[in-house]
Amino acid sequence: MNVPLLDLKPQLAALRPQIIEAVTRVIDSTGYILGPEVTGLERKIAQYCGTEYGVGLSSGTDALLAALMSLEIGPGDLVLTTPYTFFATMGTILRVGAQPLFVDIEPESFNIDPERVAEALAADRKNGGKIKAIIPVHLYGQCADMRRIAALAAEYGVPVIEDAAQAIGAECPYEENGAVTWKKAGSMGLCGCFSFFPSKNLGGIGDGGMLTTSDRHFVEVVLSNRNHGAEPKYYHSRVGGNFRLDPIQAAVLTVKLDHLDNWHAARRRNADRYRQLFRDTGLVGEKVALPQAVYADLPGADSHNHHIYNQFVILVSKRDELRQYLQEHSVGCEIYYPLCLHQQECLRPDQYKRQSFPVAQQAAANSLALPIFPELVDEQLVYVVETIQKFYRTC
Ligand SMILES: *Cc1c(COP(=O)(O)O)cnc(C)c1O
Repeated sequence: MNVPLLDLKPQLAALRPQIIEAVTRVIDSTGYILGPEVTGLERKIAQYCGTEYGVGLSSGTDALLAALMSLEIGPGDLVLTTPYTFFATMGTILRVGAQPLFVDIEPESFNIDPERVAEALAADRKNGGKIKAIIPVHLYGQCADMRRIAALAAEYGVPVIEDAAQAIGAECPYEENGAVTWKKAGSMGLCGCFSFFPSKNLGGIGDGGMLTTSDRHFVEVVLSNRNHGAEPKYYHSRVGGNFRLDPIQAAVLTVKLDHLDNWHAARRRNADRYRQLFRDTGLVGEKVALPQAVYADLPGADSHNHHIYNQFVILVSKRDELRQYLQEHSVGCEIYYPLCLHQQECLRPDQYKRQSFPVAQQAAANSLALPIFPELVDEQLVYVVETIQKFYRTC
Protein backbone atom coordinates (compact mmCIF):
# COMPACT_ATOMS: atom_id res chain seq x y z
CA MET A 1 0.00 0.00 0.00
CA ASN A 2 1.09 3.54 -0.71
CA VAL A 3 0.23 6.38 1.69
CA PRO A 4 1.60 9.72 0.54
CA LEU A 5 2.10 12.47 3.12
CA LEU A 6 -0.17 14.67 1.03
CA ASP A 7 -2.07 13.96 -2.17
CA LEU A 8 -3.89 16.92 -3.72
CA LYS A 9 -5.32 14.92 -6.63
CA PRO A 10 -8.58 13.74 -5.01
CA GLN A 11 -9.41 17.29 -3.93
CA LEU A 12 -8.72 18.55 -7.44
CA ALA A 13 -10.80 15.77 -8.98
CA ALA A 14 -13.80 16.70 -6.82
CA LEU A 15 -13.65 20.40 -7.71
CA ARG A 16 -12.09 20.30 -11.15
CA PRO A 17 -14.99 21.84 -13.16
CA GLN A 18 -15.42 24.76 -10.73
CA ILE A 19 -11.68 25.39 -10.56
CA ILE A 20 -11.28 25.39 -14.36
CA GLU A 21 -14.30 27.69 -14.59
CA ALA A 22 -12.81 30.09 -12.01
CA VAL A 23 -9.43 30.25 -13.73
CA THR A 24 -11.07 30.73 -17.13
CA ARG A 25 -13.21 33.54 -15.75
CA VAL A 26 -10.09 35.45 -14.66
CA ILE A 27 -8.30 34.83 -17.96
CA ASP A 28 -11.31 36.02 -19.96
CA SER A 29 -11.75 39.10 -17.78
CA THR A 30 -8.28 40.39 -18.80
CA GLY A 31 -8.12 42.00 -15.33
CA TYR A 32 -4.98 40.37 -14.02
CA ILE A 33 -4.01 42.51 -11.04
CA LEU A 34 -6.21 42.63 -7.89
CA GLY A 35 -9.84 43.31 -8.93
CA PRO A 36 -13.14 41.68 -7.94
CA GLU A 37 -11.84 38.14 -7.35
CA VAL A 38 -9.32 39.41 -4.79
CA THR A 39 -11.80 41.78 -3.13
CA GLY A 40 -14.40 39.00 -3.00
CA LEU A 41 -12.01 36.57 -1.32
CA GLU A 42 -10.83 39.26 1.12
CA ARG A 43 -14.42 39.81 2.21
CA LYS A 44 -15.10 36.10 2.55
CA ILE A 45 -11.94 35.34 4.54
CA ALA A 46 -12.58 38.30 6.86
CA GLN A 47 -16.10 37.05 7.43
CA TYR A 48 -14.89 33.48 7.96
CA CYS A 49 -12.26 34.59 10.48
CA GLY A 50 -14.46 37.15 12.22
CA THR A 51 -12.51 40.30 11.35
CA GLU A 52 -13.45 43.56 9.67
CA TYR A 53 -10.87 43.38 6.91
CA GLY A 54 -8.84 40.98 4.82
CA VAL A 55 -5.93 41.96 2.59
CA GLY A 56 -4.92 39.55 -0.17
CA LEU A 57 -1.15 39.19 -0.27
CA SER A 58 1.37 37.31 -2.36
CA SER A 59 2.24 34.71 0.32
CA GLY A 60 2.12 33.98 4.01
CA THR A 61 5.69 35.21 4.24
CA ASP A 62 4.73 38.51 2.63
CA ALA A 63 1.78 38.81 4.99
CA LEU A 64 4.22 38.63 7.93
CA LEU A 65 6.60 41.02 6.21
CA ALA A 66 3.85 43.52 5.42
CA ALA A 67 2.63 43.35 9.03
CA LEU A 68 6.11 44.07 10.42
CA MET A 69 6.73 46.84 7.87
CA SER A 70 3.35 48.41 8.64
CA LEU A 71 4.26 48.52 12.34
CA GLU A 72 7.54 50.19 11.30
CA ILE A 73 9.56 47.57 13.13
CA GLY A 74 13.23 47.74 12.24
CA PRO A 75 16.83 47.99 13.49
CA GLY A 76 17.14 48.05 17.29
CA ASP A 77 13.75 46.39 17.78
CA LEU A 78 13.07 42.93 19.17
CA VAL A 79 10.21 40.65 18.15
CA LEU A 80 9.23 37.97 20.64
CA THR A 81 8.52 34.60 19.01
CA THR A 82 8.97 30.84 19.11
CA PRO A 83 12.13 29.00 18.01
CA TYR A 84 10.04 26.07 16.76
CA THR A 85 8.30 27.11 13.56
CA PHE A 86 8.78 27.48 9.83
CA PHE A 87 11.67 29.75 8.89
CA ALA A 88 9.47 32.57 7.52
CA THR A 89 8.42 33.59 11.03
CA MET A 90 12.01 34.55 11.81
CA GLY A 91 13.11 35.38 8.25
CA THR A 92 10.69 38.29 8.02
CA ILE A 93 11.84 39.70 11.39
CA LEU A 94 15.43 39.67 10.16
CA ARG A 95 14.50 41.14 6.78
CA VAL A 96 13.08 44.30 8.39
CA GLY A 97 16.34 44.62 10.34
CA ALA A 98 14.93 43.62 13.74
CA GLN A 99 16.09 40.73 15.94
CA PRO A 100 14.04 37.74 17.07
CA LEU A 101 13.84 37.13 20.82
CA PHE A 102 13.00 33.49 21.39
CA VAL A 103 11.25 31.84 24.30
CA ASP A 104 10.56 28.13 24.63
CA ILE A 105 7.37 26.28 23.71
CA GLU A 106 4.89 24.24 25.74
CA PRO A 107 5.43 20.48 25.50
CA GLU A 108 1.68 19.80 25.10
CA SER A 109 0.92 22.05 22.15
CA PHE A 110 4.34 22.85 20.62
CA ASN A 111 3.20 26.50 20.82
CA ILE A 112 4.90 29.43 22.52
CA ASP A 113 4.70 29.16 26.32
CA PRO A 114 2.76 32.11 27.83
CA GLU A 115 4.73 31.74 31.09
CA ARG A 116 7.95 32.41 29.16
CA VAL A 117 6.27 35.26 27.27
CA ALA A 118 5.39 36.88 30.60
CA GLU A 119 8.98 36.53 31.84
CA ALA A 120 10.44 37.97 28.65
CA LEU A 121 8.09 40.96 28.69
CA ALA A 122 8.84 41.69 32.34
CA ALA A 123 12.61 41.51 31.75
CA ASP A 124 12.29 43.66 28.63
CA ARG A 125 10.43 46.37 30.48
CA LYS A 126 13.40 46.75 32.83
CA ASN A 127 15.61 46.84 29.77
CA GLY A 128 13.89 49.83 28.17
CA GLY A 129 11.16 48.04 26.25
CA LYS A 130 12.75 46.84 23.03
CA ILE A 131 10.07 44.24 22.24
CA LYS A 132 7.90 45.85 19.57
CA ALA A 133 5.72 42.88 18.63
CA ILE A 134 4.88 39.30 19.61
CA ILE A 135 4.45 36.65 16.92
CA PRO A 136 2.79 33.54 18.32
CA VAL A 137 2.54 30.73 15.75
CA HIS A 138 -0.52 28.47 15.72
CA LEU A 139 1.60 25.46 14.92
CA TYR A 140 0.22 22.43 13.06
CA GLY A 141 -3.27 23.96 13.09
CA GLN A 142 -3.84 24.52 16.81
CA CYS A 143 -3.98 28.00 18.31
CA ALA A 144 -1.40 29.19 20.78
CA ASP A 145 -2.80 30.22 24.18
CA MET A 146 -4.16 33.49 22.82
CA ARG A 147 -6.24 34.21 25.89
CA ARG A 148 -3.14 34.66 28.01
CA ILE A 149 -0.92 36.06 25.29
CA ALA A 150 -3.46 38.78 24.46
CA ALA A 151 -3.80 39.69 28.14
CA LEU A 152 -0.02 40.05 28.44
CA ALA A 153 0.20 42.01 25.19
CA ALA A 154 -2.44 44.42 26.46
CA GLU A 155 -0.65 44.79 29.80
CA TYR A 156 2.63 45.66 28.10
CA GLY A 157 1.15 47.53 25.15
CA VAL A 158 2.80 45.30 22.55
CA PRO A 159 0.94 44.36 19.33
CA VAL A 160 0.40 40.70 18.45
CA ILE A 161 0.90 39.41 14.91
CA GLU A 162 -0.64 35.94 14.73
CA ASP A 163 1.25 33.62 12.41
CA ALA A 164 -1.85 31.68 11.41
CA ALA A 165 -0.30 30.24 8.24
CA GLN A 166 -1.11 26.68 9.36
CA ALA A 167 -4.31 27.48 11.19
CA ILE A 168 -7.02 29.07 9.04
CA GLY A 169 -10.33 28.47 10.82
CA ALA A 170 -8.74 27.07 13.99
CA GLU A 171 -10.50 28.27 17.14
CA CYS A 172 -9.57 28.69 20.78
CA PRO A 173 -11.16 30.14 23.91
CA TYR A 174 -10.64 33.85 24.29
CA GLU A 175 -11.70 36.43 26.82
CA GLU A 176 -13.61 39.42 25.53
CA ASN A 177 -15.41 41.96 27.72
CA GLY A 178 -15.14 39.62 30.68
CA ALA A 179 -16.77 36.68 28.89
CA VAL A 180 -15.05 33.64 27.39
CA THR A 181 -15.90 32.84 23.76
CA TRP A 182 -14.32 30.83 20.97
CA LYS A 183 -12.48 32.98 18.46
CA LYS A 184 -10.83 32.13 15.18
CA ALA A 185 -7.12 32.34 14.43
CA GLY A 186 -6.25 35.74 13.02
CA SER A 187 -9.01 37.58 14.90
CA MET A 188 -7.36 37.91 18.31
CA GLY A 189 -4.16 39.85 17.67
CA LEU A 190 -3.72 43.14 15.88
CA CYS A 191 -3.64 41.00 12.75
CA GLY A 192 -3.44 37.45 11.48
CA CYS A 193 -1.18 36.22 8.68
CA PHE A 194 -2.36 33.35 6.49
CA SER A 195 -0.71 31.26 3.80
CA PHE A 196 -2.38 29.62 0.82
CA PHE A 197 0.69 27.53 0.01
CA PRO A 198 -0.73 24.38 -1.63
CA SER A 199 -0.02 22.16 1.39
CA LYS A 200 -1.95 24.34 3.84
CA ASN A 201 -5.54 23.35 4.65
CA LEU A 202 -6.74 26.05 2.26
CA GLY A 203 -4.22 25.92 -0.56
CA GLY A 204 -4.09 27.67 -3.91
CA ILE A 205 -2.62 26.47 -7.20
CA GLY A 206 0.48 28.50 -6.42
CA ASP A 207 1.57 30.99 -3.78
CA GLY A 208 -0.83 33.27 -1.95
CA GLY A 209 -1.54 34.80 1.44
CA MET A 210 -3.87 37.03 3.41
CA LEU A 211 -3.74 39.40 6.35
CA THR A 212 -6.79 39.82 8.56
CA THR A 213 -7.40 42.69 10.97
CA SER A 214 -10.15 44.78 12.46
CA ASP A 215 -7.97 47.87 12.86
CA ARG A 216 -8.96 50.48 10.32
CA HIS A 217 -5.78 52.53 10.44
CA PHE A 218 -3.58 49.45 10.27
CA VAL A 219 -5.39 48.01 7.25
CA GLU A 220 -4.83 51.22 5.35
CA VAL A 221 -1.10 51.08 5.99
CA VAL A 222 -0.99 47.41 4.93
CA LEU A 223 -2.92 48.20 1.73
CA SER A 224 -0.46 50.96 0.98
CA ASN A 225 2.55 48.72 1.66
CA ARG A 226 1.06 46.03 -0.61
CA ASN A 227 1.45 48.41 -3.51
CA HIS A 228 4.85 50.10 -3.02
CA GLY A 229 3.47 52.56 -0.48
CA ALA A 230 1.92 54.51 -3.34
CA GLU A 231 -0.74 57.03 -2.23
CA PRO A 232 -1.91 58.19 -4.71
CA LYS A 233 -0.37 56.31 -7.61
CA TYR A 234 3.27 57.31 -8.24
CA TYR A 235 3.53 59.33 -4.99
CA HIS A 236 5.35 57.39 -2.27
CA SER A 237 5.26 58.46 1.35
CA ARG A 238 6.67 55.09 2.45
CA VAL A 239 8.64 52.23 0.92
CA GLY A 240 6.36 49.23 0.44
CA GLY A 241 6.63 46.36 -2.00
CA ASN A 242 4.67 44.32 -4.49
CA PHE A 243 2.78 42.01 -2.17
CA ARG A 244 -0.39 41.58 -4.23
CA LEU A 245 -2.46 38.39 -4.31
CA ASP A 246 -2.95 37.02 -7.83
CA PRO A 247 -6.64 37.02 -8.91
CA ILE A 248 -6.30 33.50 -10.35
CA GLN A 249 -5.38 32.28 -6.86
CA ALA A 250 -8.21 34.30 -5.34
CA ALA A 251 -10.74 32.75 -7.75
CA VAL A 252 -9.57 29.20 -7.01
CA LEU A 253 -9.46 29.81 -3.25
CA THR A 254 -13.00 31.18 -3.34
CA VAL A 255 -14.16 27.85 -4.78
CA LYS A 256 -12.27 25.91 -2.12
CA LEU A 257 -13.28 28.02 0.88
CA ASP A 258 -16.81 26.59 0.84
CA HIS A 259 -15.37 23.14 1.55
CA LEU A 260 -12.84 24.10 4.18
CA ASP A 261 -14.83 23.21 7.30
CA ASN A 262 -15.66 19.79 5.84
CA TRP A 263 -11.97 19.19 5.19
CA HIS A 264 -11.09 20.28 8.72
CA ALA A 265 -13.69 17.82 10.07
CA ALA A 266 -12.27 14.99 7.92
CA ARG A 267 -8.75 15.72 9.22
CA ARG A 268 -10.07 15.64 12.81
CA ARG A 269 -11.79 12.29 12.09
CA ASN A 270 -8.50 10.94 10.76
CA ALA A 271 -6.73 12.17 13.89
CA ASP A 272 -9.30 10.47 16.13
CA ARG A 273 -8.89 7.26 14.16
CA TYR A 274 -5.11 7.41 14.53
CA ARG A 275 -5.51 7.88 18.29
CA GLN A 276 -7.71 4.82 18.51
CA LEU A 277 -5.39 2.71 16.35
CA PHE A 278 -2.29 3.82 18.26
CA ARG A 279 -3.90 3.10 21.62
CA ASP A 280 -4.54 -0.47 20.49
CA THR A 281 -0.85 -0.96 19.70
CA GLY A 282 0.38 -0.38 23.23
CA LEU A 283 3.11 1.92 21.88
CA VAL A 284 1.66 5.10 23.34
CA GLY A 285 3.56 6.42 26.31
CA GLU A 286 6.48 4.15 25.55
CA LYS A 287 7.67 4.68 21.99
CA VAL A 288 5.10 7.14 20.71
CA ALA A 289 3.53 10.30 22.12
CA LEU A 290 0.38 11.43 20.33
CA PRO A 291 -0.31 15.10 19.62
CA GLN A 292 -2.43 16.75 22.29
CA ALA A 293 -5.54 18.63 21.27
CA VAL A 294 -5.38 21.03 24.19
CA TYR A 295 -8.82 22.62 23.70
CA ALA A 296 -10.70 19.40 22.78
CA ASP A 297 -12.10 18.69 26.25
CA LEU A 298 -13.49 22.15 26.88
CA PRO A 299 -17.28 22.58 26.90
CA GLY A 300 -18.64 22.98 23.37
CA ALA A 301 -15.35 22.04 21.72
CA ASP A 302 -17.09 19.54 19.44
CA SER A 303 -18.84 22.32 17.56
CA HIS A 304 -15.61 24.27 17.04
CA ASN A 305 -12.44 23.78 14.99
CA HIS A 306 -10.37 23.29 18.14
CA HIS A 307 -7.62 21.75 15.97
CA ILE A 308 -7.52 21.72 12.17
CA TYR A 309 -4.60 19.26 11.89
CA ASN A 310 -2.61 20.90 9.15
CA GLN A 311 -0.16 18.33 10.47
CA PHE A 312 -0.54 15.30 12.72
CA VAL A 313 2.77 15.23 14.54
CA ILE A 314 3.85 12.45 16.88
CA LEU A 315 6.95 12.30 19.06
CA VAL A 316 8.80 9.02 18.71
CA SER A 317 11.94 7.27 19.82
CA LYS A 318 14.43 6.32 17.09
CA ARG A 319 12.85 9.00 14.92
CA ASP A 320 15.32 8.99 12.03
CA GLU A 321 15.31 5.20 11.74
CA LEU A 322 11.52 5.12 11.85
CA ARG A 323 11.33 7.79 9.19
CA GLN A 324 13.53 5.77 6.88
CA TYR A 325 11.57 2.60 7.57
CA LEU A 326 8.29 4.34 6.75
CA GLN A 327 9.70 5.73 3.54
CA GLU A 328 10.91 2.26 2.54
CA HIS A 329 7.40 0.99 3.16
CA SER A 330 5.74 3.71 1.06
CA VAL A 331 4.43 5.80 3.95
CA GLY A 332 5.07 9.50 3.46
CA CYS A 333 6.28 11.39 6.51
CA GLU A 334 8.24 14.54 7.24
CA ILE A 335 10.06 16.37 10.01
CA TYR A 336 8.63 19.77 10.88
CA TYR A 337 11.21 21.01 11.83
CA PRO A 338 14.58 19.29 12.22
CA LEU A 339 16.44 22.40 13.41
CA CYS A 340 15.23 25.14 15.75
CA LEU A 341 15.45 28.70 14.47
CA HIS A 342 18.07 29.83 17.01
CA GLN A 343 20.36 27.13 15.60
CA GLN A 344 20.11 28.29 11.98
CA GLU A 345 23.34 29.09 10.21
CA CYS A 346 22.08 32.42 8.82
CA LEU A 347 21.76 33.91 12.30
CA ARG A 348 24.48 36.32 13.36
CA PRO A 349 25.77 36.97 15.95
CA ASP A 350 26.57 33.52 17.24
CA GLN A 351 25.09 34.27 20.65
CA TYR A 352 21.86 32.60 19.51
CA LYS A 353 23.69 29.29 19.16
CA ARG A 354 24.59 29.34 22.84
CA GLN A 355 20.95 29.70 23.79
CA SER A 356 18.99 26.60 24.59
CA PHE A 357 15.28 25.90 24.42
CA PRO A 358 15.00 22.34 25.70
CA VAL A 359 11.35 21.74 24.86
CA ALA A 360 11.73 23.01 21.29
CA GLN A 361 14.98 21.10 20.81
CA GLN A 362 13.39 17.91 22.10
CA ALA A 363 10.54 18.37 19.61
CA ALA A 364 12.99 18.98 16.76
CA ALA A 365 14.79 15.76 17.68
CA ASN A 366 11.74 13.50 18.01
CA SER A 367 8.85 14.83 15.95
CA LEU A 368 7.44 13.14 12.89
CA ALA A 369 4.44 14.22 10.80
CA LEU A 370 2.17 11.46 9.45
CA PRO A 371 -0.29 11.63 6.54
CA ILE A 372 -3.53 13.32 7.69
CA PHE A 373 -5.11 14.83 4.54
CA PRO A 374 -8.93 14.59 4.35
CA GLU A 375 -9.27 11.99 1.57
CA LEU A 376 -7.24 9.24 3.28
CA VAL A 377 -9.18 5.99 3.57
CA ASP A 378 -9.30 3.79 6.64
CA GLU A 379 -7.06 1.07 5.16
CA GLN A 380 -4.34 3.69 4.74
CA LEU A 381 -4.54 4.86 8.36
CA VAL A 382 -4.47 1.25 9.52
CA TYR A 383 -1.45 0.57 7.30
CA VAL A 384 0.47 3.57 8.68
CA VAL A 385 -0.01 2.45 12.29
CA GLU A 386 0.69 -1.20 11.48
CA THR A 387 3.91 -0.23 9.74
CA ILE A 388 5.03 1.78 12.77
CA GLN A 389 4.16 -1.15 15.00
CA LYS A 390 6.19 -3.49 12.80
CA PHE A 391 9.17 -1.14 12.99
CA TYR A 392 9.26 -1.20 16.78
CA ARG A 393 8.80 -4.99 16.81
CA THR A 394 11.81 -5.52 14.56
CA CYS A 395 14.23 -2.93 15.87
C1 LIG B 1 3.74 28.19 5.45
C2 LIG B 1 4.14 29.05 6.58
C3 LIG B 1 4.55 30.37 6.41
C4 LIG B 1 4.84 30.98 5.07
O1 LIG B 1 3.82 30.93 4.16
P1 LIG B 1 4.19 31.00 2.59
O2 LIG B 1 2.85 31.21 1.96
O3 LIG B 1 4.81 29.71 2.22
O4 LIG B 1 5.09 32.16 2.37
C5 LIG B 1 4.82 31.13 7.54
N1 LIG B 1 4.71 30.62 8.78
C6 LIG B 1 4.33 29.35 8.98
C7 LIG B 1 4.21 28.85 10.38
C8 LIG B 1 4.06 28.51 7.90
O5 LIG B 1 3.72 27.24 8.11
